[in-house]
Amino acid sequence: MSNDSKNAAATDNAPASNFLRGLIESDIGSGKYAGRTDPNGNPLPSVITRFPPEPNGYLHIGHAKSICLNFGMARDFGGRCTMRFDDTNPTKEEQEYVDSILDAVKWLGFDWKDSGGDHLYFASDYFDQMYMMAEYLLSAGHAYVDSQSAEEMAKNRGNFTEPGKNSPYRDRPVEESLDLFRRMKLGEFKDGQHIVRAKIDMASPNMNMRDPAIYRIRHAHHHRTGDKWCVYPMYDFAHPIEDAIEYITHSFCTLEFQDHRPFYNWVLERLAEGGFFKRPLPEQTEFARLNLTYAITSKRKLLQLVEEKIVDGWDDPRMPTIVGIRRRGYTPEAIQLFCERAGVAKADSWIDMSTLEGALRDDLDPKAARAIAVLKPLKLIIDNFPENLADECSAPVHPHHPERGQRKFPITKEVWIEEEDFMEVPTKGYFRLFPGNKVRLKYGYVVECTGCDKDENGKVIAVHCNYFADSKSGTEGANNYKVKGTIHWVSVPHSLEAEVRLYDRLFTDPNPDAGGKDFKLALNPNAKEVITAYLEQGLRHAMPDEKFQFERHGYFVADRVDHSATRPVFNRVVTLKDSWGK
Ligand code: ATP
Ligand code: MG
Repeated sequence: MSNDSKNAAATDNAPASNFLRGLIESDIGSGKYAGRTDPNGNPLPSVITRFPPEPNGYLHIGHAKSICLNFGMARDFGGRCTMRFDDTNPTKEEQEYVDSILDAVKWLGFDWKDSGGDHLYFASDYFDQMYMMAEYLLSAGHAYVDSQSAEEMAKNRGNFTEPGKNSPYRDRPVEESLDLFRRMKLGEFKDGQHIVRAKIDMASPNMNMRDPAIYRIRHAHHHRTGDKWCVYPMYDFAHPIEDAIEYITHSFCTLEFQDHRPFYNWVLERLAEGGFFKRPLPEQTEFARLNLTYAITSKRKLLQLVEEKIVDGWDDPRMPTIVGIRRRGYTPEAIQLFCERAGVAKADSWIDMSTLEGALRDDLDPKAARAIAVLKPLKLIIDNFPENLADECSAPVHPHHPERGQRKFPITKEVWIEEEDFMEVPTKGYFRLFPGNKVRLKYGYVVECTGCDKDENGKVIAVHCNYFADSKSGTEGANNYKVKGTIHWVSVPHSLEAEVRLYDRLFTDPNPDAGGKDFKLALNPNAKEVITAYLEQGLRHAMPDEKFQFERHGYFVADRVDHSATRPVFNRVVTLKDSWGK
């Protein structure tokens, strides 16, 4: 059994246990973070996590994993999860992304407000404190201003086999460093002229400990602080401070930050010694990022898909972005279920796309109203049916929820059926319409096929049949007819014509960008097919974003952008069964 299906089995009822959950349980058990209070004396929860995106792009399914993990753990343990924008890098961030990220988190079903307040934070609001902390490190001799050029610094950093060399500025007097840092802040220098570095160990086997930069000059406008600052903290310095300011207990991040953990701890230890933070300090724990087969989650590559118009924008239903999967018809519940089933791993692994699709089917099956859609229409003429009769048929809104009532739709002399439900010369085992065979028109009558009409090229353009007036579904006579095939249909004059967008996986290769491959070579040319279909008339009242199961076809959603009563547009979310399995 693969890890995947093992997790799926374990999580049917209760949240799967995983090593992060285990860690939190053990910290709660030992009372590690118990009894803390904020400066006003208010008690702090024993579990505080955070979701810390950089507002520099649209969130994708990998971020959803992080959101479900951080907010989910806080929810499960009665704790708090802060929503923090890590906006310490001035040039890349935009308000548009802030808005879309907040929207995505809310849509996924999480909230940064709790009884203790509104925990929406911006790292840029901590710039004053971060600056003071950097001054402290300089004055305590834990940091220095380096004035080497970027090239010299890179050269003196060494590499994995060679230790680095100390900067000639490493031992400059504390007062000189402090003075330079203050003048950096005042704008006296150009970008890159000086930089503040932690004084740790240029020979450390961990490159991240070779006097990492903590503050740099950047003459750039910031989306929130404007032109107030021209020095900005480096990510590795800012992140532990942000965590400590927000009283984070468990700081979860992806595996690539494992080598940064010693510096994370170094920063917090020094600042705790300086009286800035109280112990116990936040602790960083790494987990494997979510890799989804048949998808890419690199922000850069997703941007390329949008810019080169390979997809129709960030919210294209083929995109793994949250706006994309939302428009595709995914529900927040399905994504939460998926993240739960994917579990949390300590080592990099791939989760199969079918796990995501399976979660969606499991979520929608009990919820989605049923409806009939004929996607590839062929006309069926019931020759012995009364000319102007519209005979009402009915079907349950949901087969397992009789309380949701019945849908009504008429059967008439002409109905649309699927092209594939007729074969002039049937293949072995084909039980649907062919001359001489009987089938049931689902929820309607049993009909016997009599033949078909063809155009000059021999293409079938209509099928003929006769019906048995005493065979209607739900009547006593129905039982007198035994047929092997049942097909779906909609009345020609009563059907609703709609645009249907048949979406499928964007890539044909399970690992489209693995090992530096060109992901554009793996694009699925059939990932989007737009057709005109005939739907059950009741779908006229579908609201944008409303989901349905089109019987025999799969799950569909009224497109949240383009659908309207006058121009119905439906997207295929997923087929009923996985057709990609081995
Ligand atoms: P960037 O390269 O721009 O930093 P990023 O994907 O790391 O991209 P962030 O905005 O920094 O984007 O990510 C916010 C949070 O989401 C981080 O805590 C990050 O670890 C987490 N995250 C990002 N991608 C994934 C993923 N594939 N699986 C799980 N968590 C992820
Ligand atoms: Mg990041």
